[in-house]
Amino acid sequence: MQADICIVGAGYTGLSSALHLAERGYKVIVLEAQTVGYGASGRNGGHVGTGQRQDQMYLEQKFGHEIASALWDMGLEAVDTVQHLIKKHKIKCDLKHGNIHFAHRAKYNGELEEEVSFLRDRYGFEQMDYVPKDKLSEVIGSDVFHSAVVDRAAKHLHPLNFALGLAKAAVSAGVEIYEQSQVTSYAGSPVVIKTARGQVTASEMILACNGYIGKLEPKINGRIMPINNFMLATEPLSEELAAQVAPLDTSMSDSRFVINYWKLSADNRLLFGGGENYRRGFPSDIKNFVRQYMLQIYPQLADTKIDYGWGGTLAITLNRLPHFGRLQDNIWYMQGYSGHGVPTATFAGKLIAEAISGKLERFDLMANLPTQKFPGGTLLRWPGMVAGMLYYALRDRL
Ligand SMILES: Cc1cc2nc3c(=O)[nH]c(=O)nc-3n(C[C@H](O)[C@H](O)[C@H](O)COP(=O)(O)OP(=O)(O)OC[C@H]3O[C@@H](n4cnc5c(N)ncnc54)[C@H](O)[C@@H]3O)c2cc1C
Repeated sequence: MQADICIVGAGYTGLSSALHLAERGYKVIVLEAQTVGYGASGRNGGHVGTGQRQDQMYLEQKFGHEIASALWDMGLEAVDTVQHLIKKHKIKCDLKHGNIHFAHRAKYNGELEEEVSFLRDRYGFEQMDYVPKDKLSEVIGSDVFHSAVVDRAAKHLHPLNFALGLAKAAVSAGVEIYEQSQVTSYAGSPVVIKTARGQVTASEMILACNGYIGKLEPKINGRIMPINNFMLATEPLSEELAAQVAPLDTSMSDSRFVINYWKLSADNRLLFGGGENYRRGFPSDIKNFVRQYMLQIYPQLADTKIDYGWGGTLAITLNRLPHFGRLQDNIWYMQGYSGHGVPTATFAGKLIAEAISGKLERFDLMANLPTQKFPGGTLLRWPGMVAGMLYYALRDRL
């Protein structure tokens, strides 16, 4: 087949890129190894956080105010883009508002309070409030935390339905999506992209495989590390229990290195994410693996049935900033959202559409963010990283 642009991967990155590019008049083909949303985009916690994965104070320190401020604006635009796409394409994905981030140790109280005033004073961001310990019962039915920050601009949604909605919108805009079409190799310019049973010749190609890239492109996968993260869904909670667990019906997360994150689904199940591993396989009993983290926060759910448990793979970078760039003039990639991909991967689609249409500034700003190679490259990145990650995970527990 022939296309202007061939995209590899049908998660938020690939689907949003396809949609934005088709709306600009390009003929787009998406090749997906499995099914739409099969990767992290169909398995995540559905939190749509503001800002970047790294906090603004870090970004200012590293890059200065001008770049940090552009990144902050793009972070807010990313959340708006998610909201805009849902509205425009009437995507039924239970969009709701607000996130609460909790300090799991008292020593983080100062940092949370400082972040709120920093964002208000330096960025005029008025949508965050600090909640001290004695007011926590107004925002959560748990007494394990020490303080919190409520972010009223953040959102949360049903992740797979959002991916499926993007796919539907992309198809309506003229995109062709081929599932069960794993790309095995590509070469040349125009690029010839091969699957087991066919090939696409395209002027441009976008790699949108994130943590599922495997061995397809060794040149970029040394800068990301795939890690597995796990979730459960309880049985639907009674209205009373749901209101106690999440009084404001926001998404929630805590300050642990291996972050816990949770929210209610539209049918009042608690969707709880906790625990990760750095191996190829998933734990044999995911429900019980995640349940232990849930019970540390909500012991009152000890008798609640766990209906589902699942895992997914995401890609992190060493400094937790996304990794965008080009392998050659017409081969682009966006990956490494480090757990912040619902807004950032969706927004990446908007940026690539701007870039391919000739307006490179914002894509380049992201592409110029430094990302280091994992020590040891793809072969040896595991032992050192795993040791480091396990050390921090252990600190969470002690
Ligand atoms: C359990 C979990 C919870 C998370 N929670 C959150 C959260 O609450 N908020 C947040 O912002 N982020 C969260 N994330 C991260 C977020 O889900 C990802 O950053 C985001 O979905 C990445 O989207 P993507 O399109 O780049 O990659 P993916 O959605 O992983 O899609 C990549 C696709 O590429 C396909 N592919 C790979 N290789 C090939 C090939 N050779 N040929 C064809 N197709 C190929 C794969 O099959 C896959 O479908 C979470 C991730 C996980 C795993």
